[in-house]
Amino acid sequence: MIDPEQFLHALGLSDIAIERVVFEEGNVLKIDVTSVKAGCQCHRCGSWIEDFFALGEEISLRHLPMFGHQVFIVLRPKRYRCPHCEGRPTTTQPLDWDTPRSRMTKAFEQEVLLSLINSTAEDVSRKQGLGADAIEGILDRHVAEQVDWTGVAQLPILGIDEIALRQGHRDFVTIVSARLGDGQLTILAILADRTKATVEAFFKSIPKRLRRTVELVCADLHAGFLSAAKAVFGRRVAVCADRFHIAKLDRDGVESWRKKERRRLKRELPKTAYDALKNVHWILRKSDADLSADERRIRQRVFDLSPKLAQAHALSEALTALYEAPLTKGQGKRRLRA
Ligand SMILES: [Zn+2]
Repeated sequence: MIDPEQFLHALGLSDIAIERVVFEEGNVLKIDVTSVKAGCQCHRCGSWIEDFFALGEEISLRHLPMFGHQVFIVLRPKRYRCPHCEGRPTTTQPLDWDTPRSRMTKAFEQEVLLSLINSTAEDVSRKQGLGADAIEGILDRHVAEQVDWTGVAQLPILGIDEIALRQGHRDFVTIVSARLGDGQLTILAILADRTKATVEAFFKSIPKRLRRTVELVCADLHAGFLSAAKAVFGRRVAVCADRFHIAKLDRDGVESWRKKERRRLKRELPKTAYDALKNVHWILRKSDADLSADERRIRQRVFDLSPKLAQAHALSEALTALYEAPLTKGQGKRRLRA
C-alpha cells in the first residue's frame, strides 16, 4: 500500500488530496484529486475571496509519466464568488502546478520542452503520445515569456536549438536552455524565430552578472546562432556545435536512401512481402539495444533486400561510435577522414 502523503510528494503537486487512483487500459493512470486549498483572488477586483460557489466542470490534465503509464490528473476546480464586485462574479481557483488554458500540468510542459532539446517535434510527439498541435501549443504559450533571473547564480553552459514546426504561422522556434551551476538542465526561453537578430537580442537581455559566467555556448549548425554567440560573448567563450546536429546530417543521408529504396522495393516486391516491412523509418532510427526481436527481424530483411541501405546505416552507426570513443582531436580527425 502506498502512503498517500508520499504518493502526493512523488507527484510533485501541492494543495490537493487524492480521491482515487485508477489504472486504465492502454497504460493510462488516472488520479482523481480535489483541491484542499480555500479561496482565491477575484479575477476582477483582485481581492481574496472565500465564498465558495460551486465545483467547475471536470478537467483532465496530463502529468509526468509514472510506472510507465501516461498520467492524468482529474479534477473539478473550485469556484468562488466575489462579494465586492457588482454581479458577484465567480472565479475558478487556480492551482500552482496548473497551466491556465492548457490540458497539462506545468511539470509536464517542462518535460516536453526539455525533451525537445536535441530532438525533433516529430520524435517528441511520438515518444510522449502527444499530437503536433499540443506540442506547438506548448511552444506558443512560452514564446517571448519573460525570464525570471532571480535565483540563477551562474550560466556556465548555454544551449541553442532550433525546432522545426509544421508549415503554419511559424516555421521555426528557438529553444534556449542552460546547464546551471549544479548541472541541472533547464529551459530559459522559447524565441519566436531562429534569426541571428532574435538570438542576439536574447543574449543581450541576460543580466551582465550572469553573462560573465558563461563559459560555453552549444548551438546547432545554424550559422546565425554561432555568430550571435560570438557577437555577444566574444572570444572568451567557447562556441561548439552539438554532436546531435551532426549526427542528424548522416541520419538524413540514411533516410534519403531509405526513401529511394522503398520506392524500388514497392515496385519489385510482391505486395504481401512489401507490406510486411512496416515502420522501417522508426526502426532505423532506434539504437540496436532498443529494438524488439520483431523489429530486428524486419531490419535484417530490409538490409538483405537493400545492401545500399545497409551500408548507409552501418556508416552512420560507425560515425556515432566515433563520437562515443575516447579519442584525441587528432585521432578523431584521422578516423573521420578514413
Ligand atoms: Zn471582485
